[in-house]
Amino acid sequence: MKRIVFCGYRGTGKTDVGTIVAQKAGLPFIDTDILIEQKTGRSIPDIFHEDGEERFREEERKVIAGLPASGAVISTGGGVVTDPVNMEHLRKDSTVFVLYADIDTIADRLAKKPRPPLTGLPLREEIAEMMDRRRQHYMAATDYCVDTSETTPDAAAATVMDLLAKGTIPQQVRAPCTSFFKTGRIPQKCLDRLLKVLAEKPDDPLTRLMGVAGYPCAHSRGPRLFNALFERYGLDYHYTWFEDPELDEIMRVARALDVKGLSVTIPFKQDIIPMIDEIDEHAAQQIGAVNTVIFACGTAMGWNTDWIGVRKPLVDLKGSKAVLLGAGGAAAGAAFAMVDLDMDLTILNRTPEKAKAMAERFGCRWGELSDFEKIRPDVVVNSTPLGMNPGDRMPVSADLLKKDMTVFDLVYTPPVTPLIEAARAAGCTTITGTEMFIGQAREQFYLFFGIDVPAEKIRELL
Ligand code: NAP
Repeated sequence: MKRIVFCGYRGTGKTDVGTIVAQKAGLPFIDTDILIEQKTGRSIPDIFHEDGEERFREEERKVIAGLPASGAVISTGGGVVTDPVNMEHLRKDSTVFVLYADIDTIADRLAKKPRPPLTGLPLREEIAEMMDRRRQHYMAATDYCVDTSETTPDAAAATVMDLLAKGTIPQQVRAPCTSFFKTGRIPQKCLDRLLKVLAEKPDDPLTRLMGVAGYPCAHSRGPRLFNALFERYGLDYHYTWFEDPELDEIMRVARALDVKGLSVTIPFKQDIIPMIDEIDEHAAQQIGAVNTVIFACGTAMGWNTDWIGVRKPLVDLKGSKAVLLGAGGAAAGAAFAMVDLDMDLTILNRTPEKAKAMAERFGCRWGELSDFEKIRPDVVVNSTPLGMNPGDRMPVSADLLKKDMTVFDLVYTPPVTPLIEAARAAGCTTITGTEMFIGQAREQFYLFFGIDVPAEKIRELL
């Protein structure tokens, strides 16, 4: 039997609700904080106070790695979700419930049962600050969220038992009936795949769906990669294609199927923004595009991981003189990453006005593609689609590539483009679009599940 795991901030009821669920399910109840105290012979406040948080996390990691692999109800410490190693262990073959409550409720509960402070802030401010800091991690950790603000532990436990019995995908969707969907809008082959997944596990209401939203997106490598990762990490999820010309329709279906998350691709990265509740202030807002959406705890939140896929392979080239070819959707993430690396950046584009508009947003220079020769950059990033189709011309002439340049082509089909071939022939350092794909997918998986997959593992699975 799969484990039932409770995560959430202190004072949300993990121990009380977990104890009742364990009784109802006839399973042993394990509280990891109590195990840590038993194992070390010290109280958690003492470990924090005397040895610091990192030492506590070490002990916590050991305890979590040693938990039974099945047949238990487990309650965890509030900060466990911030550690990717712990998330890997806790999520394996488990259903994870994140309990949450409003700040006043948590403050009242903590006033009755005081715990050592985590910051120097007054209680309510501390709760707000810590919950905000950990929000992304709770969203990643959760399979199901339960609000315990205005409920008793018995009622919350009943909600948990109900979710375990029925899941959240409505029965009319599970039944092999297509009338739920506007047929003809979701292509039949994608619909068939979805229904097949649901029909394959009629007795397991807990399999959740996720997918790539785009049009077209049937070529996406996402399903193959994510499904392989779900298997490797013991996650009861299936990733599929949500392909439709109307984003409204994709969102309607995604919400009805209670998907945990979506990867968003062409042409919806901007269109999705008004359809979700919040977007990440750091990157997604500045880039103006979202490629990752997580639905959790009553909210839909958008992120951008494309820029991380560009930044990582260029990280050792901070401050270089660089040219970005193209000023479309992928270019925005690339420009954000390159400016973040303090590069002396010029954006060159077929339509110079678009390069100008983007350069003004990111505070860099701009020009036409023909200006390349004058710049003599150290780093060249191609974000035009040139190279995808046989017979495409090169985005820059091969004779302008010099051996001390680093050439990064974001195009990943084919894996080795004519630009990469020409750059290799000229003796340049080259980076293929696959590196960007790996970097953005790795970050996306981390946002979805809190697990940090090694880049090599993703490369192998691709
Ligand atoms: P996009 O928004 O349509 O932008 C395309 C850009 O390329 C525009 O600036 C456009 O110039 C320029 N362009 C198009 N055709 C051109 C041509 N024939 N000659 C010169 N310039 C041309 O596309 P995107 O979403 O940015 O995607 C661009 C490429 O990045 C695609 O190949 C995509 O597969 C790749 N990509 C890769 C990854 C990855 O993980 N490796 C992720 C995202 C995207 P105008 O402004 O003049 O139209």
